[in-house]
Amino acid sequence: MKANNMNYLSEIEQLSQADKLYIWHPFTQMKDWLKEKPLIITEGRGCFLKDIQGKWYIDGVSSLWVNIHGHRKKEVDDAIINQVEKIAHSTLLGLGNVPSIKLAEKLIKIAPKNSTPSSHSKTLTKVFYSDNGSTSVEIALKMAFQYWQHKGFKEKKSFLSLKNAYHGDTIGAVSVGGIEIFHEIFEPLLFKTFKAPSPYCYRCEVGKTYPECNLYCLSEMENILLKNAEKIAAVIIEPLVQGAAGMIVFPEGYLKGVKELCDKYNVLLIADEVATGFGRTGKMFACEHEEIVPDLLCLSKGITNGYLPLAATLTTEDIYNQFLGEYKELKTFFHGHSYTGNPLACSAAIACLEIFEKEKTLEKLRKKIVLLQERLKRFFNLSHVGDIRNKGFMTGIELVKNKTTKEPYPLEDKIAWKVIYKAREKGVIIRPLGNVIVIMPPLAIEEENLIQLLDVIEKSIVEVTEKKIT
Ligand SMILES: *Cc1c(COP(=O)(O)O)cnc(C)c1O
Repeated sequence: MKANNMNYLSEIEQLSQADKLYIWHPFTQMKDWLKEKPLIITEGRGCFLKDIQGKWYIDGVSSLWVNIHGHRKKEVDDAIINQVEKIAHSTLLGLGNVPSIKLAEKLIKIAPKNSTPSSHSKTLTKVFYSDNGSTSVEIALKMAFQYWQHKGFKEKKSFLSLKNAYHGDTIGAVSVGGIEIFHEIFEPLLFKTFKAPSPYCYRCEVGKTYPECNLYCLSEMENILLKNAEKIAAVIIEPLVQGAAGMIVFPEGYLKGVKELCDKYNVLLIADEVATGFGRTGKMFACEHEEIVPDLLCLSKGITNGYLPLAATLTTEDIYNQFLGEYKELKTFFHGHSYTGNPLACSAAIACLEIFEKEKTLEKLRKKIVLLQERLKRFFNLSHVGDIRNKGFMTGIELVKNKTTKEPYPLEDKIAWKVIYKAREKGVIIRPLGNVIVIMPPLAIEEENLIQLLDVIEKSIVEVTEKKIT
């Protein structure tokens, strides 16, 4: 009898082989992947992940920045189960559904508000749903563009974005992106945008130091607006932290400064809080730190605690009103995804927001942020740690070949990946960004696990970069 090869393999080996046969992993050089033994996750609980061999790890990147309250959170599990018993999906195109309505109301309640009572028309009052961060950005771009078209500013067709920006992987989002290694090849497909300097103080483009620089990068942005504002529909930024660029934290005053420039030059502001939203920076939204209200606010990642894909683009009465008209005027926003306002995802999101209230997540986070910041100081002693950037529960540790000259490690060294694999041996799952070690656990992580996470990362950096012989 001819035996099927597969029969001799354990289930784990079968799955590993099938993964390599059938799956093309995102942001992954598959040639490297094929050489590896894939780590397959089967379960999660709290801030822990379990692999198929039964080994547990700390989830040090919140399953790519989406987990807030921990895995298998009972309230979220229950919300989805309850909703499944009613209906899993029905469209928002021409119909309403209960969870999407309740969630929209909740989102508007917690959205960033002006501290001084300003006109209602500039308050975030409307929610447009989609299903991932990139589409929430596409929607904001299209809304901003169409808004000016309706207003008769036909030349306002372009956007101003930042170098090192990341707004997602769809073509519009890539057009306003600024990470060369991801975006360069698609150049011929992209629409042209104006690019302002990234407020990357550690590697300041013009060699200045904060605060003596007086936010020089902001005056560069102003120069662009001064010359081109009549061609610019909106400025798009990741408020406070450029996440995918390696957790580049804005110097104080920069965010507020951007908002002031937008007002001064009559361009809209799109705040992409896909990464920073839902408590990541210590406040519900990063915009709150400098008390700004954008014209369009993009939300996703943490919105459902990583349970289901969901995104929302929030906007103002002013923008919404520009799309009102007789049907034949074609002022409608012709955009909508199949899964928009998905009831299961919205139910999960409602449960997540209720947990913020019930468990006082943000209040409890404060102590953990202090602990984290204190513990991070020790990393400065390491001989290859160039910069430590932190805002709330977003942290990036930039490894450098030479601390004095800030010379980066060459790409081919894959230094951060070596650290990540070392940490994995020690029971921690993290994922780097270039030469930056990202530390981004769920907000719900217990203090002792946070310390454990940092201890493992510190040891792993030391072992890899200092080649300690034991
Ligand atoms: C992750 C991310 C996106 C893209 O979200 P996806 O759900 O991966 O499409 C957009 N903007 C920012 C700031 C992000 O961090």
